Amino acid sequence: MIPCISTRRHLLVQLGRHSWLPLVERFTKLRPITSLSGSDDTGATSQGTGDGFAGITGLRDPRDWKMLASKTEGACRGLVDSVIKAGPKGVDTIRTLDEISDILCQTIDAAEFCRHVHEDPQWRHAANAACDQLGAFVHELNTHYGLYTALCGALDSERADPKVDCDPHGHPTSRVKDKKEYMYVGEMLRRDFERYGVHLEGGQRDEMTQLVADIHRAGHEYMTNAIDESKTGRVIVNIDSLLGRKQGISAEKVPENLSGGVFSRRGNSLVASGCSKVCLGLLVHSDIEDVRKAAFQTYHSFPVENAVLVQRILSSRHRVAEIMGFDSFAAYQLDGFSLSNTPLAVEKFLKGINESIVHTVVREREVLEAFKNKMSDSVGTFRPWDREWSVSRSLPDIYARSFGRLNSLFRVSEFLPGMSALLEEAMGLSLTVVDLHPTETWAPGVVKVWVQDTASKETFGTIYMDLLQRPGKFGGAALFTLRCGRRVAGGYQSPKVALVANISSEHFLSFGDLETLCHEFGHALHSVLSRTEMQHLSGTRGPQDIIEVPSHVFERFASDQRALKVMAKSSGCDPDLLTKDLFDALSARRRHFAATKLQRTVQLCLMDQYMHSNCIESSTFGSQADIDVFMKEHGLSHPNALDEVRHPPLRFTHLVGYAGNYYSYLFANCIAAEVWESNGGHWPSRDVIHDKMMGKGGSLPAREYIEGLVGQSRLEKVTGSKRSGNYPKFYPYLKTLGLAA
Ligand SMILES: [Zn+2]
Repeated sequence: MIPCISTRRHLLVQLGRHSWLPLVERFTKLRPITSLSGSDDTGATSQGTGDGFAGITGLRDPRDWKMLASKTEGACRGLVDSVIKAGPKGVDTIRTLDEISDILCQTIDAAEFCRHVHEDPQWRHAANAACDQLGAFVHELNTHYGLYTALCGALDSERADPKVDCDPHGHPTSRVKDKKEYMYVGEMLRRDFERYGVHLEGGQRDEMTQLVADIHRAGHEYMTNAIDESKTGRVIVNIDSLLGRKQGISAEKVPENLSGGVFSRRGNSLVASGCSKVCLGLLVHSDIEDVRKAAFQTYHSFPVENAVLVQRILSSRHRVAEIMGFDSFAAYQLDGFSLSNTPLAVEKFLKGINESIVHTVVREREVLEAFKNKMSDSVGTFRPWDREWSVSRSLPDIYARSFGRLNSLFRVSEFLPGMSALLEEAMGLSLTVVDLHPTETWAPGVVKVWVQDTASKETFGTIYMDLLQRPGKFGGAALFTLRCGRRVAGGYQSPKVALVANISSEHFLSFGDLETLCHEFGHALHSVLSRTEMQHLSGTRGPQDIIEVPSHVFERFASDQRALKVMAKSSGCDPDLLTKDLFDALSARRRHFAATKLQRTVQLCLMDQYMHSNCIESSTFGSQADIDVFMKEHGLSHPNALDEVRHPPLRFTHLVGYAGNYYSYLFANCIAAEVWESNGGHWPSRDVIHDKMMGKGGSLPAREYIEGLVGQSRLEKVTGSKRSGNYPKFYPYLKTLGLAA
């Protein structure tokens, strides 16, 4: 949740994914027509041999990308023409739009995936060109007035006559049995068209096009700056200052005494990269205060250009909201489909958590200060750069030792058999490894599995697993969708996804790796098990503030004693190693200064809301003074703490990437805690995981979906002057952190 070592991985992933295609979401979430890439080898809609890259028929050479992109565009143009010619045709229009989206999406998603993971630069380059070629076409579709009017006409006619057409025996004559999902998708598509201003007149329409393009450009530039080491600075430590305080360190030995290999020597200074990972690593692990201070200062410096870019992005977003009739971008962003529905619900949720933990934060602060004084050569003031280090170093050794055992429990190669055994026990599913065609893979070590019902052998879908680090590969861990499920003539289009990680060792998974893989597996199964009529709402393609729920529910398997014992039995490790004291250590670590860590996350979520509120109209918005006032208002408990929040928006990329949605992870944590706790702290039943949580994909309205999962009483309702909203109860989550009784 926060840009800290322990939890950064998933957010980086999300950011990576969203930053490439932020504005083409729906149309790039746009099925192959079988003649192009009908490539499945799992059953229902099997066409062709699937012998190309990621199972796409015919994609066997980098040059084939160009051909595939052109064929995709041609097929879509044919369908666009058919929609325009036919005029509004109720749900059939919506179905065709979904089909266009599916055809396009399969090629763009596969190309985007290829350019992030293929070991051969030629493939990456060709996939990149295919993305560019189709990106321009996507923009054309997103602003296509003829498609928009056909969609609006189709929605109007269905609203006027919502019955399903039936024959004299009462059987539906159309292929559509339930129009509800079609209408839901139609409304979402309409909203997405309108994001491009397609419904506006003349000048306003031009202004909207300009704003959308500008936000995209500035966002891309901002992200590039934020990871450009020439702009993010370096951590520089003066050797004399270290020698003055640390007796017994010779000048030659200094670099070796500091986090191995991080620093290089330049004259009388030690220099390290100012990238976030290095800075945060030093903040957690370095016992030398001067090093932590230098890392902190570098981390809180920022590329100067980003100050201007953030202002540009936020003002343009605000203007978009105004044009669309909202008083803030957050209100526009959350309106309609999200669980919260209004910034007021998010604000109540975040402030409610903050109020519940603020006293514990103060107490924890005193303990941290005392710890630092005990550990330091001289008693000094507790400074912002002492926090991560004190939190990490003050974990009792006994817990740290127990915890260390978890880092060498499972071999990387044992994860799949372990997960398969767990899925069988929990859900009656199994993972079957199948052969890869030599031209289907993109790097050594890729494994292809089918997710199957153990009893019936029904195959739900395919997951490619590509877990190990290699040069040139996408960083972090993520789930890439390659083909969404949807109802097609003759059966169901089998979903296909790729789970990518960057595990550095071929030998053992660290506990963090295991937790990450469980989290991403939750996303993968959500995609594979979902059975929606249309691809638009398949798997993880629902509203941002509910799609993280299944992955957070799955993440908890990694620290569940019963689950790990099941995994251990099938993977060859000794289940007797999984003793109670090991899980006590896990729990202790989770609770260790939990309020301090959680408050930081809450503050960043509040900051994200604030940046997308109507406060942007104030002339001091975004200045350091303005940020100081804002952070002070939201739970800072110590005067020195103001130093901690120097310009976070200028380096903390999620604040730009999430655009008012950063709270979604806290929502998911709370709902996941509720799902487990409502089953007495044991893993949820098959009915809950498969049917209620995953099988529906994103096809239910957010509130209905969450109420079905945890019950109506577990949502707090908020009534505002214009809109009402919802947020999850947070006490079960606080309880898991030891912050509530
Ligand atoms: Zn996730």
